[in-house]
Amino acid sequence: MTDTRTISLIMVLRGQGISDNRVLSAIERTPRAVFVDKPFESSAYENSALPIACGQTISQPYVVALSTQELDVQPNHRVLEIGTGSGYQAAVLAQLCRMVYTIERHKPLLRQAEARFRQLKLHNIVTRHGDGFAGWLEQAPFDRILLTAAVPEVPQALIDQLKPGGILLGPVGKEQFAQDLVKIARTDGSTSETSLIPVVFVPMIPGVPQEKLQGNGRKK
Ligand code: SAH
Repeated sequence: MTDTRTISLIMVLRGQGISDNRVLSAIERTPRAVFVDKPFESSAYENSALPIACGQTISQPYVVALSTQELDVQPNHRVLEIGTGSGYQAAVLAQLCRMVYTIERHKPLLRQAEARFRQLKLHNIVTRHGDGFAGWLEQAPFDRILLTAAVPEVPQALIDQLKPGGILLGPVGKEQFAQDLVKIARTDGSTSETSLIPVVFVPMIPGVPQEKLQGNGRKK
């Protein structure tokens, strides 16, 4: 049975305009408490972003819900996510599509997210440790691409990995604490761009940091 905190969160999201029942039910089925660190477990079903390891954040449920709704993910889709972080957004997407490909530059975060995917038996998520700016050429093209870290402008390399008819969504802006959630629709010869809402995301940083892993996958 769904617990009351999840039901309250779903009601809040509905009130904020999330109307796609497939998205709401994917959120209902994804236990956010599994994706936050112990000290924040009691806040897991509040509609707010929370800190995770490596100085990063798990996005606000509303932003996850809106992004997922705007991506209009279909059951046959292959979706690329840049910025695995806690793994929560990937887990929500995985309920709605055929395969999620997710890239993270911090190895400790990625290992922790992989353990959560195994725990929840989400077998249609493929992970990669690396720099998302280059996308995932071997698996391209994708039906949908979601950036969950902010870019000053959308890298052409990522637009190039989108199928015609595909949608790319992500936080775009030159300011550190203010971006727009931008939706780019690719048709055969061109792309069109729409700004959805103002958002604050951590930046997308090029390259991969050197990190040592402890046995439990956490950063030393
Ligand atoms: N989608 C996540 C939220 C991620 S926060 C969730 O549901 O929890 C953004 C993530 O993007 C961070 O974990 C950060 O390390 C990662 N990131 C930043 N720059 C990156 C890059 N160039 N390639 C891959 N991941 C990147």
